[in-house]
Amino acid sequence: MKPEGSGEGLYGGVGQNPCCSVCKPGQDLQETYFPFGIVFLVAGKILEMDDPSAMGKKLGFYAITVVMGLVLHGLFILPAMYFFITKKSPIVYIRGILQALLISLATSSSSATLPITFKCLLENNHIDRRIIRFVLPVGATINMDGTALYEAVAAIFIAQVNNYELDFGQIITISITATAASIGAAGIPQAGLVTMVIVLTSVGLPTDDITLIIAVDWALDRFRTMVNVMGDALATGIMAHICRKDFIKEGEQVPLICETKPMISIQQMTYQKNGVHQPTPCGPGGPDVARLMQLEEGVRPEQRKRNPHAPQHQREHKDKDHCSIDMNGLETNV
Ligand code: ASP
Repeated sequence: MKPEGSGEGLYGGVGQNPCCSVCKPGQDLQETYFPFGIVFLVAGKILEMDDPSAMGKKLGFYAITVVMGLVLHGLFILPAMYFFITKKSPIVYIRGILQALLISLATSSSSATLPITFKCLLENNHIDRRIIRFVLPVGATINMDGTALYEAVAAIFIAQVNNYELDFGQIITISITATAASIGAAGIPQAGLVTMVIVLTSVGLPTDDITLIIAVDWALDRFRTMVNVMGDALATGIMAHICRKDFIKEGEQVPLICETKPMISIQQMTYQKNGVHQPTPCGPGGPDVARLMQLEEGVRPEQRKRNPHAPQHQREHKDKDHCSIDMNGLETNV
């Protein structure tokens, strides 16, 4: 018998689990059984239903309502806001962020799409880097129009399925809590489903009915993430327009954050082997020009492969046999 508090888990050892034939090493139990858990949650809900086909139809209408709402918001309301504030074509702007929209559709995560959105805004829409750096991460964290819309529709759907009459005050409560819950949602797949609990409890709806909408959520999540990303990108464009006089476009003046590094010529480098300075070698045996150029760019042409199991004295000997390139006082070890 294992002593209590020995550090070993329920399954006989730290980091081990009993499902060795199913799990890869290091894979979590939770991760492995997640799809099975979802299947049984949905199956249990279907068995409780008197008429599953009628419920399937309602679920279909619910999904269509969410998609139509997202289309209306993403294709009409957001571009219209951009157009009225900036007086520029939203079509051209949206064409510039198409790549980011596709990535968000594929990943269901506005956080994962953030680097691509950044690149699209910088390279295609020519937004000032300083504005993107501030607005985009803030937007990706708190601005989730698609999630807010989806949570409000989902709460109303759950109320209707339970024959629960919502008065005007409750609908306003749902709108406000859905907006607040979307701000709290992380930019990761199906985060909105978790924050839905806040919306449902605010009007006294049963939270376990979330299992009803899990079946269609994987698809709806993709569309609402697209709208979230589009909202962030258009907000960045609007901010760039509003602040255009305060920001001098990069390239016209010295940039706020200097990212360039001084170029040095290969002749300026001195080559050092085993601690002894030597002139830059050009002949065979010395590092060639391409190698030196790579070093100037900060790329190591080859990583020394250390054997972690080798005895200490061997590792020390290898460490002594090194050469380094001195670039204007900055030493790069090879
Ligand atoms: N997947 C959404 C996003 O990353 C969040 C959510 O609504 O679940 O923006």
